[in-house]
Amino acid sequence: MVASEAAPFAKTGGLADVLGALPAALRAQGNEIAVVLPRYRSIALAEAERVFDDLTIWLGKSSYRVNLYRKVERGVPYYFVDMPALFDRTGLYGDSSGDYPDNPVRFGVLCRAALAIVRHLFRAQVIHCHDWQAALTPVYARHLFATDPTFYGLKFVITIHNLGYQGIFPATVLEDIGLDKSLVKPSLLEFFGKINLLKGAMVFSDAISTVSPTYAREIQTEELGFGLDGLLRQRANMVHGILNGGDYREWNPQTDRYLSSHYSAEELDGKAACKHDLLAEFGLPQEGGAPVIGIISRFVNQKGFDLIAEIAPELVAEDVKLAVLGTGEPQYENLFRELAAAHPAKVGVRIAYDNRLAHLIEAGSDLFLMPSMYEPCGLNQIYSLRYGTVPVVRATGGLDDTIDESTGFKFRDYSGAALKETLHQALDAYKDRQEWTERMRTGMRKDFSWDASAAEYARLYSRLTG
Ligand code: ADP
Repeated sequence: MVASEAAPFAKTGGLADVLGALPAALRAQGNEIAVVLPRYRSIALAEAERVFDDLTIWLGKSSYRVNLYRKVERGVPYYFVDMPALFDRTGLYGDSSGDYPDNPVRFGVLCRAALAIVRHLFRAQVIHCHDWQAALTPVYARHLFATDPTFYGLKFVITIHNLGYQGIFPATVLEDIGLDKSLVKPSLLEFFGKINLLKGAMVFSDAISTVSPTYAREIQTEELGFGLDGLLRQRANMVHGILNGGDYREWNPQTDRYLSSHYSAEELDGKAACKHDLLAEFGLPQEGGAPVIGIISRFVNQKGFDLIAEIAPELVAEDVKLAVLGTGEPQYENLFRELAAAHPAKVGVRIAYDNRLAHLIEAGSDLFLMPSMYEPCGLNQIYSLRYGTVPVVRATGGLDDTIDESTGFKFRDYSGAALKETLHQALDAYKDRQEWTERMRTGMRKDFSWDASAAEYARLYSRLTG
């Protein structure tokens, strides 16, 4: 697998959770698998083994010298591509002044290094690429090395974790990443006068997958296809929707290392103590039985924050408490800061990326809010189920595939009115303690573990390799 993030090494979102858990699940089922990642600043090399010195990667006229390291995590070798000038930086993709302008080169080097690893260190039959950052791998292999016997018979899978991010750059970038202008064709990388790296992977791969069955259908529509729906429809027979799993080693209320009390579907008592801890953490009053609504998210439009903003005044007028964690667009960071300042006894907000607090919110909340405009799979609703934190979601993508009436509340119409109505239903239902506890238990017993997904990926690999 080639990817730009993997837990526990580097994480900004769900992609890292997938790359931290799926490889180990595949390995447990007898597959041999390795992962290639950039060596970011967050990745310490102290315990890693140096496995290749001074590998020279040529992208057109420029050369990049990288070292390769390997560290085994959960039985899986992770290869780190080390070149400090490219990867030893504040962020994974950018910093406070925006995306790094040399991202195409940075991830071009990652993809070329992955092919070098297949040549020298790990003879793969399938290269499974994740998102646009890994998308150049099949393009290089099939365009530059088409006659290289090393790569004969090698199959490529591209998994789309979020079609909203495609790696679109001016065509002039081709020269920097060592590709020629012959790729600028609508049937290849060209995309509305620019080049689109994800599209390149879709064109040059043997299978395309995405992270839930519903999202696999949705991206073939104009509404959610981000301009690539036509290509996806053309290739519909090679588009697969494989639901992500929840990493229950990390997300399990019975063993969670961040919690001071533990609980399970059979023994729920500890959840009240977790709610107590959460309220204390946010400085919210313990009194009153008001339900706590949790939010953990990137603050971007995709996640439905415009709907939350629309109904916020009415929401805080209800008998509820809010525990909010996230970072993102300033308008939403400000919205939550202002809400907390105006309603200090009701709204707790942390503008941060904080894994421990994410666990505290999952455990201590009664409801979890995820009204996404679109959601390829979504992981927090899967974690919420396991923590007995009832999800209120919009019926889209993986949210629609994982939440039903017996475990949560969902609405279809993307509107503040529909969200408000569904929240009211949930808050009403919360009053019937017995029925609510049943709903919590039903959710906690759902199994979205990685095993089933890993088996589906393994079936896809076997089909490709015959
Ligand atoms: P996406 O990948 O679109 O951001 P997902 O629901 O698939 O959304 O995955 C989000 C992952 O990132 C979850 O593991 C979630 O707990 C984590 N996460 C998001 N924001 C934060 C934050 N501010 N602090 C800690 N963890 C976060």
